[in-house]
Amino acid sequence: MLNFFRRKKTEPPAPKRIRDHKLGPGILDASALKVIEVLNTNGFQAYLVGGCVRDALCGVKPKDFDVATDAPLEAVTKLFRRSRIVGRRFPIVHVRFGRDLIEVSTFRQSISDKVVHDDRGMILRDNAFGTLHEDAFRRDFTVNALYYDPSNKEIIDFVGGVDDIKAKNIRFIGDTKTRLAEDPVRILRAIRFSAKLGFTISEDILSSVKNTAKRLEAIPPARLFDEFLKLFLNGYAETVWRQLRETPLANALFPSCDPMSPLALAAMRNTDDRIFNGASITPGFLVAVLLWDDFKARNDVRHSDDDDPAFAALKSQQSSIAIPRRFGTFARDVWTIQERLHKRNVRSLDRLVTHKRFRAGYDFLCLQAESDESVRACADWWTDFQNANDSEREALIAQLPKTPRKRNRGRNRRKAAAQNSASTGTG
Ligand code: ATP
Ligand code: MG
Repeated sequence: MLNFFRRKKTEPPAPKRIRDHKLGPGILDASALKVIEVLNTNGFQAYLVGGCVRDALCGVKPKDFDVATDAPLEAVTKLFRRSRIVGRRFPIVHVRFGRDLIEVSTFRQSISDKVVHDDRGMILRDNAFGTLHEDAFRRDFTVNALYYDPSNKEIIDFVGGVDDIKAKNIRFIGDTKTRLAEDPVRILRAIRFSAKLGFTISEDILSSVKNTAKRLEAIPPARLFDEFLKLFLNGYAETVWRQLRETPLANALFPSCDPMSPLALAAMRNTDDRIFNGASITPGFLVAVLLWDDFKARNDVRHSDDDDPAFAALKSQQSSIAIPRRFGTFARDVWTIQERLHKRNVRSLDRLVTHKRFRAGYDFLCLQAESDESVRACADWWTDFQNANDSEREALIAQLPKTPRKRNRGRNRRKAAAQNSASTGTG
């Protein structure tokens, strides 16, 4: 009788196994394949998974490699000397192999008592281990849930990810609203992958953007900083920004920024160009751009020398995205140098040109000049000045309006007082 009521454990549906693909050692990272080999020879299942399989199938060179295994995290650390468990919300193992870093995670499941949710369905901790099949279903998008088994060169697909890659679709596994409630950052991931690969985001995801933007408030600002780096420092910032600024997401990330600011768009494009050309980039520059209007507004109403508009602008941003101090300092330097670039005080031009943030400050000025006529003459002057020889520099300096020498009131006052006391015999 009892047996009658006991639910029969159903076998999970068999995945598709795909052999007709171009993945192989040429595209895939040797270190990641080695990690899998070591796990396999020790009796564990192990597969490449996630972005590396997705990107390789799209013909894009993967930038990092994730491995999924049935080995517990501690077992993984025992097999690899240079490895350690990282992450609190979502622990994984970082395995160092030569100069490579491979992220190894144990199969997990998302439908379990061990997954801790808040009262709105957001996953707080996800530490319930599971099978390969369960692991596939806890991943976010179908295109991110493909496994590559190097031992037989098969791609294992439980969720129709290969078809979605062919159709260029970003689609959640399961119910969109539930998956976004579990983790609102997934909305940013959808935009990022669509920008990177030219994929279309499914309608039900797009129609949830507004609601999800509000929920980003619950995400730790440090996690959003990591996401900020991935969104804007991977070579497709302009496409990402164009998407974000059409939605409340831009202001969910940067509350004080005008999403339609031409400076922001120009800076995104410039960041992509620099990455393409192999030039250096820093998140500090984008911070300077995105908080510039807020800094300026605060600077304009500054009441005393004790007011610190840069500090205030950076501080008010921290509740959304935690910007590490060094990038905040970079932004502050770029802002404060703007005034000096405009003033062009003849006596300190040489010092200004050798200032460690001169180049960044000048780049910032040039970006502003692209959309702001009033800045153009100044930016052009600096371009000419840097390309000029000594006599040309003198000519450029001669063009500058004469700045009246600042009277040193304090010194004059002290001098007068000294003379006074000498003549009156006081002091
Ligand atoms: P890229 O490395 O290009 O940023 P990726 O897809 O590899 O893209 P990762 O953040 O490295 O992204 O994550 C690896 C895999 O882990 C993803 O492909 C996905 O399967 C899973 N994953 C990552 N973040 C989430 C999340 N927030 N929710 C569900 N699954 C996730
Ligand atoms: Mg990855």
